[in-house]
Amino acid sequence: MNNDSAIPDFTQINELTNNSSPGPSSDAGQSDSWNDKRVVVHVDLNSFYPSCEELRFPLLVGKPHAVIMTREEQGRITKGVIASCSYEAKKMGVRSAMPLSTALKACPDLVLNRVDIPYYATISEKVMKVLHDCSDILEQTSIDEAFLDCSDKIHALVIHKHKATEVDDSVLVHRPSKRECESVRNLSNSHLIEDFAISIKNKIKSECGLLTSVGVAPTKSIAKIASDFRKPDGLTIVPPTAVPNFLENLEVERISGIGTITKKSLKQMGIETIGQLARTDVQTLVHRFGNKYGIRMWKIAKGLDEDPVRPRSEHVSLSTEYTLPNFTKDKQRLLIHFDALTDELFRRIQRKGYRFRTVGIKLVHADFVVETRERSYLHYQDTRQSISNAIPGLLQKFYSTVTERQEGQAANNMIENRPLNTGTELFINVPIRKIGIKISNLILNRGSGKEEGQSSILDYL
Ligand SMILES: [Mg+2]
Repeated sequence: MNNDSAIPDFTQINELTNNSSPGPSSDAGQSDSWNDKRVVVHVDLNSFYPSCEELRFPLLVGKPHAVIMTREEQGRITKGVIASCSYEAKKMGVRSAMPLSTALKACPDLVLNRVDIPYYATISEKVMKVLHDCSDILEQTSIDEAFLDCSDKIHALVIHKHKATEVDDSVLVHRPSKRECESVRNLSNSHLIEDFAISIKNKIKSECGLLTSVGVAPTKSIAKIASDFRKPDGLTIVPPTAVPNFLENLEVERISGIGTITKKSLKQMGIETIGQLARTDVQTLVHRFGNKYGIRMWKIAKGLDEDPVRPRSEHVSLSTEYTLPNFTKDKQRLLIHFDALTDELFRRIQRKGYRFRTVGIKLVHADFVVETRERSYLHYQDTRQSISNAIPGLLQKFYSTVTERQEGQAANNMIENRPLNTGTELFINVPIRKIGIKISNLILNRGSGKEEGQSSILDYL
């Protein structure tokens, strides 16, 4: 949090490794174009827990401080384990998983805060919303890391820019050759990706107040290695043609999943760098590490990892809420309000190009008790009716709960149990103050391979 520079620590690997660089002098076969390659971005929030603490306690900025896991609920923290610490504390020798006593020996002035996951989760959610808007597909892999597939977004930007160039071309006396056009486009492509990645970093910084390390590459594994390459506040871009040079001299443990034991086994085989791993016969690796693991590490080392960025659809949702102007128990009035909310939510679903499987509703009672119900379709849906048709049935699901509650009251308090389940009668005994709809199990609607919507609904809960 101590770096206010708008320009991140940036590495374009082509320049770093002196590989074939993009531009007019490139050979056609050595083109640096990303056009037919995926653009995968890995975003890692730097020192996430301590940075969250700095957001709510700005006096911590610039100080050595740590977030600690401790069972002590009250009073001064005297024991526990360091979950994460600020860069200032790292400089003093404090590390994650270190017992508190050791950390305090290394840094006697260490300021401590208890781990507060619910608070960090709210910040993470805010970040993921920003990242979601920057990507075609978002795969959140932890509270502070995510992969973004930005291929379509970048492709659209390139086409937009290319079309603009074509318009300009029409007024030029000298029309550039096909090769010149290609070179210009490749160059623009690279610059677009660089600008795009910087804009992601700047958005997270301005909207969430957090620094990130970002890696951009044609595969997930290389994007992850790239984001680790420079911390904090780093940006490392590995264009497709730069992949072999980038990986050549990196230690094998940079590959996610290669830990101490595998590293030791590889060392016994004379393999210490990813370049050496890439030149190893795949059969040798399969023989030593098994089919799945052997092939996986070889593919990653060769830059051939095809693992797609997968949306964690169960974690992705869109929701909306409405506080009623007057508390009500009336079912028909609630349905009218739900209808208005459906309009709003469906517009957002359409704008983002989602299909969905799960529709949920929330009722907040006047006494602030919150109840939710949801149902899932067997197949992905993309119509407004799929939301609106589900809502009366979901409201109906509150009846059994209410019946039990009212029957309980009737037994205990001798209160008359109202008839339920018909018309617009009062169907709950506490008025509703707020309603909400949540749509989850979302995927991007890409047009191809579209499943036909089915009307059958399965109860989700
Ligand atoms: Mg992190």
